[in-house]
Amino acid sequence: MSVARHLEIACIPGDGIGPEIVAEAKKVLTQVCEKYGHTISYTDVLMGGCSIDAYGVPLTQETIDICKSKQAVLMGSIGGDAATSPWYRLEPSKRPEAGLLAIRKALGLYANLRPAYLFPELAASCPLASKEGGRNFDLIIVRELTGGLYFGERWTKEVDGVTTAVDTLKYNENEIRRIAKTAFEIAQKRRKKVTSVDKANVLDTSRLWRKVVHEVAKDYPDVELNDMLVDNCAMQLVKDPEQFDVIVTENMFGDILSDEASMITGSIGMLSSASLNETSFGLYEPSHGSAPDIAGLGIANPIATVLSAAMMLRYSFNMTKEADDIENAVKKTLHDGYRSVDLMPKDPMEAAGLTKVGCSGMGDAIAARI
Ligand code: NAD
Repeated sequence: MSVARHLEIACIPGDGIGPEIVAEAKKVLTQVCEKYGHTISYTDVLMGGCSIDAYGVPLTQETIDICKSKQAVLMGSIGGDAATSPWYRLEPSKRPEAGLLAIRKALGLYANLRPAYLFPELAASCPLASKEGGRNFDLIIVRELTGGLYFGERWTKEVDGVTTAVDTLKYNENEIRRIAKTAFEIAQKRRKKVTSVDKANVLDTSRLWRKVVHEVAKDYPDVELNDMLVDNCAMQLVKDPEQFDVIVTENMFGDILSDEASMITGSIGMLSSASLNETSFGLYEPSHGSAPDIAGLGIANPIATVLSAAMMLRYSFNMTKEADDIENAVKKTLHDGYRSVDLMPKDPMEAAGLTKVGCSGMGDAIAARI
């Protein structure tokens, strides 16, 4: 039996479906805490469009300070419909998404973790060609989040009469070392295999990346390390995702590969994510957005947020059993035939025997299986 603890969480419900899905994640977290004798307190803060409405800015210093004072942050999603929402008539630095970039920076969140796992019950929605023995992948992408091309010097100007733009891709060995360590530590808790993705046949930053990752690997002799070029990795993800356990890569490659990896599961409402700093602190959120088209209808799928809460227990609180319980409860709920609207098969034959539930119905079904 684990020792009873008190968990202090900052919550950013955000906009659109955010408040609905965060409510269900809290429901499941409360249930698992009760089971193990833990207590939990939530402090809700504003960020995104709701913060613009209240304070005129997408992120306030107060929100940052409250998040910093807690052990972890659980987030729903932010933003609205860009075509109709007045938030998008503001200049880019004042729009909802600016709050997200600013909070990642303020909290020093340098490692972005995105699992891509195919639930057997949802295998029919996987867009990949079938494979002998069935599709069965379970991988996690560890993306460097605060360096590289997105943070390097950039300019656009006339050079010899020709408009020219430059972006700078820069990494130092310390930035590479800390993300590599994160990847190896995660692999130690999984199937002990790291694939380091780079473009070392062309880029100097990639050659440094490869050298440093190999140095770090010496401290983790129980973990197998392979290098893969990014173009090959993009191909292998759609050809044979079963080969991967942990993929570690730099910011831009990770941005693209993690979206690709998400899509091969075929279910946007199922994908969790974590962004971590150098301590155990992290911000946990679903990979999808605020789905303004279905906000307030009570039909959003809360599973990605529930699984993000499980990641929070695993990575910020080192509560492995509690995290496993949530993940197993999600698997059992799907196995027992509960489906949110987005997961319902279109074909009535395939839908026969399944139970359609709304957002809170899905939260109830998962909590009941903890
Ligand atoms: P989206 O992910 O919000 O929605 C895409 C489609 O998937 C929509 O049809 C939506 O109804 C559906 N969907 C998404 N999540 C779902 C869920 N949990 N259950 C059921 N269906 C779900 O992407 P978008 O429409 O491009 O963006 C909407 C807003 O969200 C934009 O303002 C965008 O900037 C923002 N956004 C925020 C985040 C974040 O908060 N981290 C991430 C991505 C997009």
